[in-house]
Amino acid sequence: MRALVKNSPGTGLELLDVPIPEIGPMDVLIRISRTAICGTDLHIWNWDPWAQKTIPLPMTVGHEYCGYVEKTGSGVTDLAPGDYVSGEGHLVCGRCRNCLAGRRHLCPNTEGVGVNRPGAFAEFLSLPYRNVYKLDPSIPENLAAIFDPLGNAIHTALSWDLVAEDVLITGAGPIGCMAAAICRFAGARHVVVTDPNAFRLELAMQLGATRTVNISQESLTDVKRELGMKEGFDIGLEMSGHPSGLADILEHTSHGARISLLGIFPDKLEVDFEKVIFKGLVLKGIYGREMFETWYKMSSMVRAGLDPSAVITHEFPVTNFEEAFETMLSGESGKVVLDWS
Ligand code: NAD
Ligand code: ZN
Repeated sequence: MRALVKNSPGTGLELLDVPIPEIGPMDVLIRISRTAICGTDLHIWNWDPWAQKTIPLPMTVGHEYCGYVEKTGSGVTDLAPGDYVSGEGHLVCGRCRNCLAGRRHLCPNTEGVGVNRPGAFAEFLSLPYRNVYKLDPSIPENLAAIFDPLGNAIHTALSWDLVAEDVLITGAGPIGCMAAAICRFAGARHVVVTDPNAFRLELAMQLGATRTVNISQESLTDVKRELGMKEGFDIGLEMSGHPSGLADILEHTSHGARISLLGIFPDKLEVDFEKVIFKGLVLKGIYGREMFETWYKMSSMVRAGLDPSAVITHEFPVTNFEEAFETMLSGESGKVVLDWS
């Protein structure tokens, strides 16, 4: 089968012919239809220090996808060939305290598809049946292919009651843009999104931000005044992975504000804990998706009318993968989808 493989150190990936993965009795073989490129894949493409210390070679990459069940292991009873599926990219141990309590997103022994084990940028993926998520046939394939990052946005945003609250989202990457759509759908009042990138701010507006702020041109203090906000944002969602994104949230949220942190900061960072303490801020770290409550919410919200598909700005056949990665790396894109069919 064809697969996008990190075969040797250095920049890029190779489209190679590799064996179709074996499946065990409790696994499912998925024929991949669409995949989407994640920031993690860009780290692997760039072969940056994180990728160098994390990814064993060779590695088939990718973890955002949808497809159809090709074959099931002998012990799998509730999935059948032809089922339309996506899958949770975090494999958990099932035996730690959190797993046993049903808090699987907090498992300390998580393994990642396309990071620690062969991924989905391939014609076939082998996945334990517990990680397979059956999709409603009404969900378009391109949208299903981005359920993993949509789930990140849903997990982050729905951590808090959003009804009539004012939300500050720092970072209009694909996940920040989708979070804007989710906050509006869940009833938030002002949904303000920051970024230094004009293309991405435009995308955030399309997805439902009520106001965008180019941080290289405008100040959040002025924007709060313009919006008639006296005490600051009630909710902060950090989705930039940049220290100043967090600093803006600590500065511009109200006393008692609820804040979730999704963005991954490149280095250890200085945090103004005086603000956290004296403002009584509540901080929550977010990793992945809740298994499988986030997946349930995501499917239901999409079927109830949430439509984040405008975040998909480009689609390429997999043979044009280099162009697809360059498009993602340019910053002038939302999600980029690869077609494997
Ligand atoms: P992305 O890198 O495409 O988007 C980040 C955006 O932040 C970019 O548009 C960038 O221009 C903007 N930005 C940079 N500095 C900023 C600043 N000071 N203020 C406001 N915006 C700024 O990433 P994405 O795919 O949308 O993901 C968002 C973040 O979430 C990334 O940091 C990613 O690594 C992280 N992430 C975390 C998890 C998790 O499980 N915790 C999962 C997926 C992604
Ligand atoms: Zn566990």
